[in-house]
Amino acid sequence: MQTRVYAAASASAPLRPSTIERRAVGPRDVQMEILYCGICHSDIHQVRDEWGGARFPMVPGHEIIGRVTAVGSEVTRFSVGDLGGVGCLVDSCRTCTFCRDGHEQFCEHGAAGTYNSTEMDRVTPTYGGYAQHIVVTEHFVLKVPPNLDPAGAAPLLCAGITTFSPLRQWGCGKGTRIGVVGLGGLGHMAVKLAAAMGAEVTMLSTSESKRADAQRLGAAHFGLTRDESTFQRLAGHFDLLLDTVSAKHDYNAYLRLLRPFGTMICVGAPAEPSPMSAFSLLGGNKRLVGSLIGGIPETQEMLDFCGQHGIVADVEVIEAKQINEAYERTLKSDVRYRFVIDARTIGT
Ligand code: NAP
Ligand code: ZN
Ligand code: ZN
Repeated sequence: MQTRVYAAASASAPLRPSTIERRAVGPRDVQMEILYCGICHSDIHQVRDEWGGARFPMVPGHEIIGRVTAVGSEVTRFSVGDLGGVGCLVDSCRTCTFCRDGHEQFCEHGAAGTYNSTEMDRVTPTYGGYAQHIVVTEHFVLKVPPNLDPAGAAPLLCAGITTFSPLRQWGCGKGTRIGVVGLGGLGHMAVKLAAAMGAEVTMLSTSESKRADAQRLGAAHFGLTRDESTFQRLAGHFDLLLDTVSAKHDYNAYLRLLRPFGTMICVGAPAEPSPMSAFSLLGGNKRLVGSLIGGIPETQEMLDFCGQHGIVADVEVIEAKQINEAYERTLKSDVRYRFVIDARTIGT
């Protein structure tokens, strides 16, 4: 079937309305009419080819909530009319150790990304959620708790799982002193999730204007990182730091804020590398670790956790024609706290 999309023709072109072909619904496929799709900063990095390896035309979007419109004969978990969610992955080999353990993002054969990637045949390009419809194999479609607002739930499919997974892995819980660096899409989800897990959250932000919001989202404290005294005041304070910053910054300065044996988790993915001194880790046996999205079982666990705690993203719902403007505002850190496209406006 043909579906209307917003696509970029090259790394320097704006996103424009276009049409692509979606595959016919196979026995294990779920077809959805997309309702909402979040704008992740990774969409901007990729569409502008900041990480390298961009494929054009590109239809970004991996924070997708849709209404099921057709299911294949072997599909058991979804029926027409159900809500479904799709995140950053649309397929993987399902048989390697990592797939079997539910870490499909590390599939030994290379998982199929939702866009800027290929299906497992390594030939057919994948196109993402800035679209009216999508067809995805059942295993990669998530159940969305019905009590969650669908627009606010869309960002959970990337921003939610990307922050939930490392918080769980590194033991965020009651009494953990955690600093969340950067209050954007990922950062605001991290604050909500860590607070719901019982942690004492400090927001570390370059934007004084976000101080009140940080508190409303669940942060007990706020540190302005443009102010050098913040780094002196909070030296040696945190058990965990979750760094969501999208642009080049100094990791060494943040590592000084960790207590001995503390862990700093990088989820932000700046295009430019930043120098790291070994001495930032040696004193205090500190760890600097990374985390990439999350696998399918953990994504479902995160959605269920959000359903139980009534957690969704704070969103600004936009029409498709505002996508390019939303990109510019995101780059200026002017986002409160996720832009979400109303997919019904894509075809108009
Ligand atoms: P976003 O909404 O644009 O938020 C990024 C925030 O970082 C900004 O709001 C700003 O917060 C802060 N910031 C921006 N420039 C800065 C600078 N020069 N110095 C210090 N702080 C700065 O982006 P997002 O969608 O949350 O994504 C954040 C990053 O995570 C991106 O690089 C994205 O590609 C990456 N990502 C990684 C994964 C993964 O699997 N690891 C998944 C999704 C996204 P303040 O105004 O509070 O300072
Ligand atoms: Zn993302
Ligand atoms: Zn695999």
